[in-house]
Amino acid sequence: LEITTLGIGSASPHKERHPSATLVKVANDLLLIDCGEGTQYRLLENRIKTKRLKYIFISHLHGDHYFGLVGLLSSLNMNKRTEELIIYGPVGLKKLLNLQFSLSDTKLNFKISIKVTNPDTAEELLNNDSLLIHTFPLKHRISCTGFLIAQKAAKRKVLTDLLPSDFPAAYFKMLSDGQSVNDTHTGKFYKNTDFTSDGEESKTFAYCSDTIFDTEIVKHIKNVDLLYHEATFLETEKNRAKITFHATASEAAQIAKLAQVKQLLLGHFSARYDSLDLFLEEAAAVFPNTLLAEQGKSVII
Ligand SMILES: [Zn+2]
Ligand SMILES: [Zn+2]
Repeated sequence: LEITTLGIGSASPHKERHPSATLVKVANDLLLIDCGEGTQYRLLENRIKTKRLKYIFISHLHGDHYFGLVGLLSSLNMNKRTEELIIYGPVGLKKLLNLQFSLSDTKLNFKISIKVTNPDTAEELLNNDSLLIHTFPLKHRISCTGFLIAQKAAKRKVLTDLLPSDFPAAYFKMLSDGQSVNDTHTGKFYKNTDFTSDGEESKTFAYCSDTIFDTEIVKHIKNVDLLYHEATFLETEKNRAKITFHATASEAAQIAKLAQVKQLLLGHFSARYDSLDLFLEEAAAVFPNTLLAEQGKSVII
């Protein structure tokens, strides 16, 4: 599971920071979480092949989290995309996109399925062979959801070197599914653990977009491998954080600590701060395994 940050800024523009957008790479699929203004340029700069973009998740309808969406979709259309794109987002997103496309007389040559997220309760969005994705409620000025992305554990790895040359290929799947094989033709028995090793473990990434400090989040993100949590302010602006329904670096770290996550990634920094050093200092004092998100940098878990 590879997480690449494309934007670390918040709503007010900062000359060196782009608004929210995070790319998640799972096997051969790309997932985009939030799509702030100019996200399509960030994808170009980072040489991301948008053909592989399969799902887009929008946390809420503040502009710094979706103003790039119409531009990105329009460019995918100009690039002759034909593959379906699935977009998960708040109620209103569909209306907004339809209005933009109808006023510009744009007819997309690929299908977009827009699925409405529920801001009031945790819910399963997607469950396939490799991915399990949930939303959970965040407390912000408008309806907002976090996302929990789990890459499922890989199947068992078959140790082909240990298998006899006459091992029937038809039984391979049984071994990778964790079953032992009883070959009725030869009468031979193959104990699963003698011929397989553990596949890669499940990996989890939680994305807490804009939110006030809220311990209700904790139960949804327990023990994740990587937690992205917004840190718009420092503790000196704690009141401002509360009024605007945002969190401080220290508060993000408290959530990470309570949820016993393995690693914390901070982003969504207010434009009022030019240096981000204090964000790391403040969070690391509470939760040492903290990183500041960096634009164009990836974390592999
Ligand atoms: Zn924001
Ligand atoms: Zn917001």
